[in-house]
Amino acid sequence: MSSDNPLSPSRTLSSEELIEVLQEELQETNQGLLALALELENARDHYQGIFDNAFDGIYQATLDGSYTMVNHSVARILGLESSRMVVEEINNIGRDVYGDEARYNFLLKELQVHGFVLDFKSRIEQRDGSPRWISENVRLLTDEAGNPSGFQGVMRDITGEREAEDQLRLMSKVFQHGIEGILITDTQNRILQVNHAFTYITGYQPEEVLGKTPAILSAGYHESDFYTEMWKTIASKGYWQGEVLDRRKSGELYTEALTITEVRNSDGEVTNYIGIFTDISDRKATELQMHRLAYYDLLTDLPNRRMFHDRMEQELHRARRENRSCGVIFIDLDNFKFINDSYGHRTGDDVLKVVAERFQEVLRESDTVARLGGDEFTVLVPDITSLRSLDITTGRLSDCLKSPISVGEHEFVIGASIGLSVFPDDAEDGETLLKNADAAMYRAKSQGRGNIEYFTPELNIHARERVEFEMSLRYAIERTEFIVHYQPQFDLQSGELIGAEALVRWNHPVNGLLYPDRFIAIAEESGLIDRIGNWVLEESCRQGREWHDQGMEHLMVGVNISPRQFATGDLLNTVRDALRRSGLQPQNLELEITESVMMENPVQATEVLCQLRELGVCVSIDDFGTGFSSLSYLKRLPVTRLKIDRQFVCELNTDHEDRAIVASVVDLARHLGLGVIAEGVETEEQSDLLQQLGCFEAQGYLFSKPITSREFGERFIDSHSETA
Ligand code: C2E
Ligand code: CA
Ligand code: CA
Repeated sequence: MSSDNPLSPSRTLSSEELIEVLQEELQETNQGLLALALELENARDHYQGIFDNAFDGIYQATLDGSYTMVNHSVARILGLESSRMVVEEINNIGRDVYGDEARYNFLLKELQVHGFVLDFKSRIEQRDGSPRWISENVRLLTDEAGNPSGFQGVMRDITGEREAEDQLRLMSKVFQHGIEGILITDTQNRILQVNHAFTYITGYQPEEVLGKTPAILSAGYHESDFYTEMWKTIASKGYWQGEVLDRRKSGELYTEALTITEVRNSDGEVTNYIGIFTDISDRKATELQMHRLAYYDLLTDLPNRRMFHDRMEQELHRARRENRSCGVIFIDLDNFKFINDSYGHRTGDDVLKVVAERFQEVLRESDTVARLGGDEFTVLVPDITSLRSLDITTGRLSDCLKSPISVGEHEFVIGASIGLSVFPDDAEDGETLLKNADAAMYRAKSQGRGNIEYFTPELNIHARERVEFEMSLRYAIERTEFIVHYQPQFDLQSGELIGAEALVRWNHPVNGLLYPDRFIAIAEESGLIDRIGNWVLEESCRQGREWHDQGMEHLMVGVNISPRQFATGDLLNTVRDALRRSGLQPQNLELEITESVMMENPVQATEVLCQLRELGVCVSIDDFGTGFSSLSYLKRLPVTRLKIDRQFVCELNTDHEDRAIVASVVDLARHLGLGVIAEGVETEEQSDLLQQLGCFEAQGYLFSKPITSREFGERFIDSHSETA
């Protein structure tokens, strides 16, 4: 205030003056108030603006739950268009906002106790039903008397954070409880974190590995190159996937399927590596097992046919590229069927195992020996430099079988027929190579046991013919293309006809009359011999009975019995049936069984022969002298006659040894009380000499070739008194 101010106490003013002064004063005051009001209004607008535009929702509400004041953000958070709508429409916060009265009551209670509530999280539903998460800080309001009058709050939409949190919680669950082992490392490859499965698989607790590198898991199996490659791949592709052999804490090895992924931050820098792995040891074991089943022969543990083919393909591929040669050896055991049939499969299996072991012992590591099935083995000899080297291998294979194989209490000497073919001379592809070796083996077999044969082109034709031949042999039985010829047997002294040997022939539709040497061996191998043999037996018995009825009561009918029939077939019943059906007397039937068949298994032979003898039929030992009969067994074999083989009769006049053999066979027969007959007598001299040596029964071209039954009847039955 200035010194000439009329209100200054230094002077007294007139009433007019006073009024004037007062008026002035009033005017000034009015102007001041106006300015203040203006200022206030500005401030209010300012705060209203802050209130309205605050990102958080700000509100005030009554205790009974109506909003009295809200800003825009509350409307946004609750999903209403305007703050006015919030105030007008929400008259029960509990029900309308929380959808849950209880929760609202809890909030009020907390407010009354503490005066405020912080970070009160709620899941609410917006008007359109979409869920949100909010967090509120709320303060109780009181009137002048200090009584609660309402509350004020700030709410924030935390849905985003909440979802991220949930996600994180989920990730952590997955991390901890997944069945895959997980480890997280830093850029120095130091382990930062591992999960339960990691511990479960590796056996290491987290504290044992944190800060270390995954190298502590290494089994030392992989070369450093392996890891270098792995990190190279991670650097270029961002991840690596593969199988790793690691070691558990217990020391046990295990195979894991591992994926390593690098983690980069938003600036593109690598911050971590994540390794995720599963233990696939079990799967590996199963795979291995499956592989064994598919590629190995379970009995011998040798590769099987499939594996052999695979190896052969690989080897041929290499041989072609490097201009080399390789050999295929095909081995078929001799007599194996016999062992199997007469001693049982188990014994047969044991023999095969020993054979497999011996083969492996004598072969080089680079050779592959496989069992194709049954008693067939093949060997692949890679990289042969000369046929001689192949010969050496083959020789070893055949030699290693020379010493007897013992199985249980039995001892077997088993031989092998071996065929060979050579790449690229005999075939360019594996299939043909094997087929050719097989064909060579067949020829080896047909030339007697224990032979070795190389493939020749003619063999191929032979092999094909053989297949066709076997097929037509099968049909021959159905079409009854077989016929039996009979060769008469005589008493040399009286000239009397005493018997007839039945000899089968095949009336082949294309090739004409075929002799047994052409088809018996094949029939034997293919198993068709049983049916052929039975047919011959039936037919011969029938014929024998017919001749019997024509007055030849003493005529013997001799029927050849094949080794297979003897070993497997139900020979006893077959013979019994044939006799019953034909009505032939048992004593008129003679079964011819070769010496070698009987000697192969004397114990079983004795048993079968005894049963046959009980039936009343006669049994002769065919081809006697060609096998190596043990005398002690011979004594016990219940046979009735020895048949001296043609080969001793043939050179009887010139060969002293043959003569000595015949003499001793006759001697032996006399001592054992057996009959004796010579076959293949072609000359008078032979006939005379046989009689001198004491053999008085014979058959041969000198008297008659084998002939049809009709011819036989005409020549020897109707007028038998005139003959011989
Ligand atoms: P095998 O039992 O030794 O039969 C005698 C063979 O010698 C017959 O040959 C016969 O024709 C022949 N032969 C007879 N006398 C003379 C002769 O004076 N000189 C010459 N050089 N040969 C003579 P085949 O008929 O060819 O029979 C050969 C073999 O076939 C027989 O030998 C026998 O082991 C077998 N065989 C014949 N028929 C059957 C049959 O029905 N079943 C079985 N399993 N084998 C049979
Ligand atoms: Ca015979
Ligand atoms: Ca003979």
